[in-house]
Amino acid sequence: MTGQDAPVRMQGRIVVVTGGARGIGRAIVDRLAAEGATVVIGDLTDPGEVGAGLDVAGHREWVPLDVTDEISVLEFAESVQAGHGGVDVLVNNAGIMDTRSILDETVADWDLTMAVNLRGPFLMVKHLLPLMDGRGSPSIINIGSIEGLAANALHAAYATSKAGIHGLTRALAVDLGPMGIRVNAIAPGWIDTDLNRGYVDRHPNRETTMAELASLHPVGRIGDPADIAATALWLASADAGFVTGQVVTVDGGRMTRLPIPASLADDA
Ligand code: NDP
Repeated sequence: MTGQDAPVRMQGRIVVVTGGARGIGRAIVDRLAAEGATVVIGDLTDPGEVGAGLDVAGHREWVPLDVTDEISVLEFAESVQAGHGGVDVLVNNAGIMDTRSILDETVADWDLTMAVNLRGPFLMVKHLLPLMDGRGSPSIINIGSIEGLAANALHAAYATSKAGIHGLTRALAVDLGPMGIRVNAIAPGWIDTDLNRGYVDRHPNRETTMAELASLHPVGRIGDPADIAATALWLASADAGFVTGQVVTVDGGRMTRLPIPASLADDA
């Protein structure tokens, strides 16, 4: 098969990706566009300022969006409706991570994490739902986290918001199923993006930290944004037509490996 007649799974479909300027969102944008989708990136930031421009294969555009702000979401929805006439796939990816003790956490810190990570997906679904009406097999993909299943230290707000996204996913799958809309979440493990690069860079020996991180994963490496994009493509495609209400963990097996004392590790 030549590149020209290779199958494209998202031909003619309109996709919205929040937080798609960089990181995991950007990888989802690029993968779905490469599969034929027209992708609208909703982000605070112009993707051209933080990474490669939008000039490679596929149709991609940026519409400014703050997912925490209902007016911004409404204006975004109007723009997508005017430009494309509807939405087939919504990927709620925009998220922030808040690392501090509960004693240091202010109400404003807590509310900001909830506003981006939880209110944002709620507003996006609420105001883009009318754009999904009458489309062929629409679906919603929420980016949750393994921290919605377990927690790192000092992540009370973040882990709570991600557990909330998993709950929202299940609730919406039940409510929107009768309208023909599938709703799933991806729970990524440790993915190499700016979000946690800064976290690693705070430690003096980056190489050692990265090697230790890799060793936590049965597959022997941390994740790449492309790993999450591949799962998003599957969930958006007809191949996942009977899959809804699921949280798909994509973590290189990290959550599956039971911890054992270091002194016994050689026997494993
Ligand atoms: P990045 O920080 O690399 O990218 C996040 C993007 O979201 C940025 O472009 C950011 O814009 C945008 N964004 C932030 N706030 C808003 C907002 N209010 N409205 C619109 N866009 C906004 O993060 P990642 O790619 O690493 O993470 C993406 C998602 O994956 C998040 O939900 C995160 O929680 C989740 N995740 C990530 C993991 C990882 O290991 N990286 C692991 C598990 C889950 P700006 O640059 O202007 O702030």
